[in-house]
Amino acid sequence: MAKREHPLLNGIIAAVATAAASALIPAVREWVSTAAIATWSVIRSGWALLTDSYPVPGWVILITLVLACRAAFMLYRRLGHAPEVTWENSYREDRMHSALWRWGYAAGDIVGLQPFCLQCDAELVYEEQGPDVRRRLWDDTPIATILHCETCGARSTTMQGDRRYAWASVEREIRRRIRTGAWRQQVRSTEPLGSQT
Ligand SMILES: [Zn+2]
Repeated sequence: MAKREHPLLNGIIAAVATAAASALIPAVREWVSTAAIATWSVIRSGWALLTDSYPVPGWVILITLVLACRAAFMLYRRLGHAPEVTWENSYREDRMHSALWRWGYAAGDIVGLQPFCLQCDAELVYEEQGPDVRRRLWDDTPIATILHCETCGARSTTMQGDRRYAWASVEREIRRRIRTGAWRQQVRSTEPLGSQT
């Protein structure tokens, strides 16, 4: 069923709308005009700021140029280069005793040291040779630790001392390479092609 419109109601709505519009239009017009004047004023001031000449001492220009160049250089370094290479974030594997040793760091200390096979990258297992702990008191046969690969059968060099001594000697060598800077050569040699500078 079509809705019938009430003539009196329509009249009241039209009157109220007309009154509101006539009251609002001058206020809106004034606001728009004020906003336009303010905007134009800002544009003119900005343009004057850019085009006017100022008596600036040479040292101000020089310092400004130096600061701008430094900022541009820092931005270029940050955007165009990888994070700085340090032994702590990059030196985590190296070759010693015919094995590839991998490790991590915890508060600067070497942790999780483990040898891997150079042929097939399997974890190497160790075997201690020589007298056991009780017999070492009177038996002075040299103790040795042998690393070998269960996967491919490769046998690496025999290391001096028991397992604990052998691992500690590798840790000492890692720390020596960190101190002398020799670690950088190892990191460079394992970088993927194209990333070397
Ligand atoms: Zn192997």
